[in-house]
Amino acid sequence: MMHNVCRRCIAAKLRIRPILHTASYTSNDGSTCSLKNRFVDSGKASNSFCQRTHSCGELTSSHIDHAVTLYGWIQHKRFNFMMTLKDAYGVTQVVIPQNKDKIHKELTSKLSSIRTESVVKVTGKVQPRPPGQINQKMPTGEVEVLAEDIELLNECKEDLPYQPKDFRKVKENLRMQYRYLDLRTSKMQENLRLRSQLVMKMREFLCNKHGFVEVETPTLFRKTPGGAKEFVVPTNRPGKFYSLPQSPQQFKQLLMVGGIDRYFQFARCYRDEGSRPDRQPEFTQVDLELSFVDKEDVCNLVEDMIEYSWPEWKGELTLPFPRMTYHEALTKFGTDKPDTRFGMHLHNVSDIFQNSGFQIFEDILNSGDGTVQAIHIPQAMTHLRTRDYEVIQDTAKSKHRSKHGVIVIKVKDHLTWQSPASKFINNDAKERLSEELKLQPGDVIILAAGKHEESCLLLGSLRLEVATLLESKGVQLRDPDSNAFLWVEDFPLFLYKEDGVSLESAHHPFTAPHPEDADAIYTSPDKVRGLHYDLVFNGAEIAGGSIRIHDAKLQRYVLDDILKENSITLSHLLEALESGAPPHGGIAIGFDRYVAMLCNASSIRDVIAFPKSFEGNDLMSGAPAEITNEDLQDYHVKIIHK
Ligand code: ASP
Repeated sequence: MMHNVCRRCIAAKLRIRPILHTASYTSNDGSTCSLKNRFVDSGKASNSFCQRTHSCGELTSSHIDHAVTLYGWIQHKRFNFMMTLKDAYGVTQVVIPQNKDKIHKELTSKLSSIRTESVVKVTGKVQPRPPGQINQKMPTGEVEVLAEDIELLNECKEDLPYQPKDFRKVKENLRMQYRYLDLRTSKMQENLRLRSQLVMKMREFLCNKHGFVEVETPTLFRKTPGGAKEFVVPTNRPGKFYSLPQSPQQFKQLLMVGGIDRYFQFARCYRDEGSRPDRQPEFTQVDLELSFVDKEDVCNLVEDMIEYSWPEWKGELTLPFPRMTYHEALTKFGTDKPDTRFGMHLHNVSDIFQNSGFQIFEDILNSGDGTVQAIHIPQAMTHLRTRDYEVIQDTAKSKHRSKHGVIVIKVKDHLTWQSPASKFINNDAKERLSEELKLQPGDVIILAAGKHEESCLLLGSLRLEVATLLESKGVQLRDPDSNAFLWVEDFPLFLYKEDGVSLESAHHPFTAPHPEDADAIYTSPDKVRGLHYDLVFNGAEIAGGSIRIHDAKLQRYVLDDILKENSITLSHLLEALESGAPPHGGIAIGFDRYVAMLCNASSIRDVIAFPKSFEGNDLMSGAPAEITNEDLQDYHVKIIHK
């Protein structure tokens, strides 16, 4: 029987570093590459349950004179008597005997007729490479295989859309259309193998070390209130549809009621969110739920799971992860997912502008919940050019309602500021701002005035935009090797919708109120904090979860009275909460994004074997595809062309 996840027990017993070996690496296209082999010792593969004796990445001088059988794809041919054979583990040079006998003739003519990327079986003997031909950068570079036979197993067609070679830059659409070719590149091989390794380590941590039970939950479900738009699945019963779940949220809570007190799943989730950069309509979460826990237990468990499965080559990981309230994140970083790897924090300078002589700002400050926020970018004038200031202004215009609310000031000298607004700001305000921000000649300040949250959010995105601009000019702000994890907590339980009157859940409707604010839920729900926590990694939200409402009355009140949702659609869950529901909580890690960050991949598509395009299409099969009218009739669905 496992106990609650206790920080002390884990610290004492389980601080075990993952065994993801680091070794020199040569990409499988033969191009020299200093990437690390993140999985196993260089080029080693399992050769059990298959016909090969070795992989294409493992032969060294210790194998000289060994008889070997290799399988792989022909990568390059040279003069019809030499080729490189590749598989997922590396590349081996194969040569045909030069003695001009029958075998030589046969094999030379065979090799000349086989196209590259064809699949072959090679049998032969390992021999040292001739002097001068040793390639120290290749793990197999000291040896070659003297072929006794080359058997063509499957000929590759002549007109491949592209040759799957890492050094060749191929457009992403083409890569996705011919994904099976793209998967042959070393980068995709590496990413998918790291992904698999992480899955294995996390499973081991959860099941073997902490008694979790892996449960598969349905993907054909019913429409649920609130949250993201769902995909619906027609059925052959008129007017009846399934919905694909946005997450297994309800099922995992029902499992807690059912006494499966530690659940996890690598869960496939579906959200119809349209074209959004770096999102996928179907994605994977590491979904967890536990009974009899508090927020600390869940956060500690996740930290320890990350540590357990952490690839060593990713550098230092410091536990426990720091914490920050939502309020601090918003006011200091202008976002709920702060990138804490660099400064340029937001400063509330409302006081200074109250009597600054600058009428536009003074009016905004006197209009109710208006504030003036500033970010200070030391020595930015050296790096930013006219075009960069235009980019900043364009972002400001597209994100800020007030036309005059954003001002960029170049600090030429103590009180000599360059900006159209500068002449309206009195010297007293300039002095105070200089002192508050510790301004130096050459610095740049961005000021945003408007509704508090709007101004903070705008400066939060400008802070990131400026960082990217500066980094493109060689100023290093965000250390790519640092691993800045951060818990954000104390979120509001509800947020106002666009209409400014009705409320929606900040996380989801099942999140419990903070015990200190529990009474206020009946009087001023907009002031209540939730027991919701997000995990941020280098400025990206990689996990989110909460302690749940386990009291049916409170859950019904939240759904009916606060969110004005139709709780009938959730009557199964409400009934379950009335049937002896334990206190419980959990979290879900966005696995695709997390893996992409570990792989330094620029897109989550690079860590998904068969991803959808930006528009949600499968470019390989053409999904989503039309279906015939006849099929449609079975579903009692009619297409209306708009
Ligand atoms: N189901 C939630 C989500 O997908 C995560 C959780 O609360 O556990 O965001």
